[in-house]
Parts: sequence; structure tokens; C-alpha cells
Amino acid sequence: MTPSQWKKPLPVPSELSRPFWEATRQGILKLQRCDDCGAFVWTPQPACRRCLGERLRWTPAPGRGTVYSFSVLHRPPTPAFQVPHVVAIVELTEGPRLMADLIEVRPEAVRIGMPVEVAFEIVGDVGLYHFRPRPLEAPPGSAWLQPGASPSG
Ligand SMILES: [Zn+2]
Repeated sequence: MTPSQWKKPLPVPSELSRPFWEATRQGILKLQRCDDCGAFVWTPQPACRRCLGERLRWTPAPGRGTVYSFSVLHRPPTPAFQVPHVVAIVELTEGPRLMADLIEVRPEAVRIGMPVEVAFEIVGDVGLYHFRPRPLEAPPGSAWLQPGASPSG
């Protein structure tokens, strides 16, 4: 999709958030991680929220988590949004909570604690991030197929 076809608002990166948006453009979710205490930090900050250390490093994250909270919008913020539309707060396995659209799920099927994974949508040179349901992970050593695995192995 090109920006001229896209009718919803697009993010405008700040100096602080620019590395995040450069990563999403490549289909990578990155979070700041504190070199001093190891905490993951969201939203982008000049210093760690836990220890106030200033050595924050942009670190790729797998983008998996669970639905912490959600809301179903029935009145669109602009006519460009299709409703009903699910906006969720996703708690990443690393700890931070991000707000994002939930996609590929019926609103009535969304549950607190539902496992989700990040999904990217490229609009021009902007990488938007959403979350979608993910299957429960197979126990170690089980024969369950992992997402993306081919049946032939
Ligand atoms: Zn820290």
C-alpha cells in the first residue's frame, strides 16, 4: 500500500523513537534494553525507568505476548477505520505493554490473556505494527508443528 492510498494517520517518528520505526519498517520489533539493570523499556525513553541508567540499547524482541486489556471500537476515529475495531494493550513476554490494533480476530473472540504475536504492515516507508492471535506453543519435544514449519519437516 502506498501512503496516498492509506487514509489512516501514520506515525511521525521523533528523534527518540526513530530506531523503533526504522526496525518496524524491516519487520523487526525492537525495544530499548537497559545495559545497567537489564530492564526492557517502552515507550522510548532517554533513561531507564527502573534504574535511571542512560545506557539504553535497541534490542530485537520476538514480539510475542498476551492480551492485557482491550477495547472494541464501534465508532471509528475517522471514516478510514473499519468497525468494529479492536485496540489492545499487549503485555510482551519481555514485560513492557504496548497499545496496538488486534487483527485477524473477531472482536467477540478476543480474551484477556490470549496469546498474540506481532504482525507488520508496510505503508510506503513506514512499518506499522499490529498483533494477531498466535497458537499456543508446543511443549518441548512434542511433534506439534511450529508456525512456519512445513509438514515435510
Ligand atoms: Zn536500568
